Amino acid sequence: MTHASNDSAGCLFCKIATGKIPSKKIYEDDDVFVFHDINPWAPVHFLMVPKEHIESLVFVQEQHSVLLGKMLVLAPKLAAQEGLRMEGDGGFRIVINSGKEGGQEVFHLHIHVMGGPRPWKRG
Ligand code: AMP
Ligand code: ZN
Repeated sequence: MTHASNDSAGCLFCKIATGKIPSKKIYEDDDVFVFHDINPWAPVHFLMVPKEHIESLVFVQEQHSVLLGKMLVLAPKLAAQEGLRMEGDGGFRIVINSGKEGGQEVFHLHIHVMGGPRPWKRG
């Protein structure tokens, strides 16, 4: 079985990243696609996915270091762009559910970025 590949067959987030399924896109480049979560926990809640189909953090390899670093560096920039405060009491929350016991439901690696005034619906 291939856990990290460009094989997108049947994968929801591959279909979103290629535009086959519509989403509320925030950002896109050659490696990364970012869109609003359909069921937000917080006033701002978006998902960052690599365009490469990597099943989860469980399956990342050395070769993915640059990609993952790039995504984490991008996260606060997009969070600010989406209106989240970075100064004072501001901030944001990053969640990467990994594997079934880790609470992962969609098996294409994704970074949740959540923020905004509390209380939140969840989290
Ligand atoms: P996880 O439990 O980490 O796998 O989270 C999957 C996330 O994907 C959940 O927060 C869902 O609300 C979100 N989600 C599922 N389908 C879609 C969709 N079509 N567009 C945007 N977000 C989605
Ligand atoms: Zn995928």
